[in-house]
Amino acid sequence: MTKTIASTIVPQPKPWIEAIHAYVPGKATGKDGRPLIKLSANENPLGTSELALAARARAPLPSLYPDPDSKALRAAIGARHGIDPARVVMGTGSDELLNLAAQGYAGPGDEVIYVRYGFSVYDIAARRCGATPVVAPDADYGTDVDALLALVTDRTRVVFIANPNNPTGSYLPRGEIARLHAALPADVLLVIDQAYGEYLAPEDEDGAMALALAHENVLVTRTFSKIFGLAGERIGWGTGAPGLIATLNRIRGPFNVSGTGQAMALAALGDADFVERSRLHNRDERARFVAAIAALGNHGLRALPSEANFVLILFEGALSAEAAYEGLAERGYIVRWLPGQGLPQALRITIGHARDMDAIAAALRDMAQAAR
Ligand SMILES: *Cc1c(COP(=O)(O)O)cnc(C)c1O
Repeated sequence: MTKTIASTIVPQPKPWIEAIHAYVPGKATGKDGRPLIKLSANENPLGTSELALAARARAPLPSLYPDPDSKALRAAIGARHGIDPARVVMGTGSDELLNLAAQGYAGPGDEVIYVRYGFSVYDIAARRCGATPVVAPDADYGTDVDALLALVTDRTRVVFIANPNNPTGSYLPRGEIARLHAALPADVLLVIDQAYGEYLAPEDEDGAMALALAHENVLVTRTFSKIFGLAGERIGWGTGAPGLIATLNRIRGPFNVSGTGQAMALAALGDADFVERSRLHNRDERARFVAAIAALGNHGLRALPSEANFVLILFEGALSAEAAYEGLAERGYIVRWLPGQGLPQALRITIGHARDMDAIAAALRDMAQAAR
């Protein structure tokens, strides 16, 4: 004899967990489920290095656990960047490391600072561990170091910045990064997220990695998801002081990078040609696309200066970002409209192939003209 007991007593999530707005990924299909050309998640339009694809075939058996320490991959990262591999920690995407940084250093009663129009994962990372998110105002959508520093209190434990930043594409030069670090108390962890670092010209390198090697309170994160074309494999890494790396290793998943992912990332790291080709493609197509948008300035369209593999376009005239988003979807392109991040007036568009960027610029021109 079974009796159903309708209970009102159920497990209760922590209130700070309930307050989280789950991450909203870029869409891949239109309203009718039709596949669209996806320029909504900053993936590499050139795909993945042939060397990495070949390495997939040679990866360890899926029935075996992967190397929990990603030894070969960390050694290659260390050699490539001049870092002791002992100071490299791997993550299931850099997302995992961003979350672990918050979890390792902040909790209820502590404050975590990031900028308005920063990467949306920082808000989740702060809330997930029960810390209080503190949002610094922007300077025309860019990171304002002074505004951020003005919010530092005794409770500040972690500061997140992305350089270049997503979704704005804005970038802080080396001097500003150094100034931010120098002004922070030594017990505040500065996380510098360089997911788009490889897209910078070598002379624009922001000096973050040197800071991470010289100080106890800087974590730099990198990813294989963007220029390396391995977003699907979920591999990121970070570097910083030995104590910091030990903390993150203590709390990461023991087998957090798959064997296939390790093999592919190792090969991708060795394909300097593919990375350089991707960077130059992005630099040239971004410049062409930004120029095409500048020509629509009289229609109220404005492309923010970008150092990343996407451009944020503001719609300040008769054509709204929402209408442009729908119009592009009708023409087969899915881009990112960001009302949930306080940017209902903006679209973030990943730099794709030349033909697609031309088609998008032409479509925006037609829609802007029709909206007058
Ligand atoms: C895409 C992106 C990441 C990378 O996330 P993964 O988990 O490594 O795929 C991290 N930070 C920013 C700012 C990004 O845009």
